[in-house]
Amino acid sequence: KIEVTDLNKSFGDLHVLKDISLSIKNKEVVCLIGASGSGKSTVLRCLNFLEMKDSGIVVIDGKEIDVKKDDLNQVRQQVGMVFQHFHLFPHMTVLQNVMEAPVQLKKAKKEEAKKTALDLLEKVGLSDKADVYPEKLSGGQKQRVAIARALAMKPEVMLFDEPTSALDPELVGEVLKTMKQLAEEGMTMVVVTHEMGFAQEVADRVIYMHDGKIVEEGTPHELFNMPQNQRTKDFLEAVL
Ligand code: ATP
Ligand code: MG
Repeated sequence: KIEVTDLNKSFGDLHVLKDISLSIKNKEVVCLIGASGSGKSTVLRCLNFLEMKDSGIVVIDGKEIDVKKDDLNQVRQQVGMVFQHFHLFPHMTVLQNVMEAPVQLKKAKKEEAKKTALDLLEKVGLSDKADVYPEKLSGGQKQRVAIARALAMKPEVMLFDEPTSALDPELVGEVLKTMKQLAEEGMTMVVVTHEMGFAQEVADRVIYMHDGKIVEEGTPHELFNMPQNQRTKDFLEAVL
């Protein structure tokens, strides 16, 4: 569960997040949509403290995160993140990629980490790729490895920042399918996406951002079929 209250963030003079408040319940899938530059990635990055907020409160699992006192690496372990560009370690095999963080950061036993990693690779349909290097994989396969790698840390929440935007169209489906499966298993997810079909089908809630603010939110049905705000209407008209 994540609770964000009045989050503000500026880069220099550019005020990119303006009093963002949102709440993500356990097992909820929330899609974040909005035009380029509206602040979607910055919201995700503030949620796992890749970016430091200027003001506002972030509560994860009932605990307010204090950036001065809390171990942010610990926080990041609770909040998994998958990026548009997969960021796999090129010099490690698929299996090593998935084992790396649990072994290095959580001091997991190698044997255990390996077992978990193999289970996760099976889950994302890549058992047969455990020993190959990322360069031998398609974009869709790389992204599924990135998802397995994030899951290996057993996060409470998974953040996805346009996970399919860098993929060839024919590879988008396999990644969305993996994400949908994860959602069905009850993972709490925040997904920045341009895939409105995915949002319609999988999201419990959709949030529309414009210019650093949340303009409107609701169920997919509410947002897509009966948007209230003119900006939301204009945006949806342009993308649907
Ligand atoms: P896109 O759909 O293109 O990914 P976005 O909604 O994710 O857009 P952000 O990446 O959150 O938007 O960016 C919001 C604003 O903040 C943009 O104007 C961007 O140029 C600016 N910005 C983001 N990161 C930085 C940074 N590290 N330094 C300066 N400005 C930044
Ligand atoms: Mg972005």
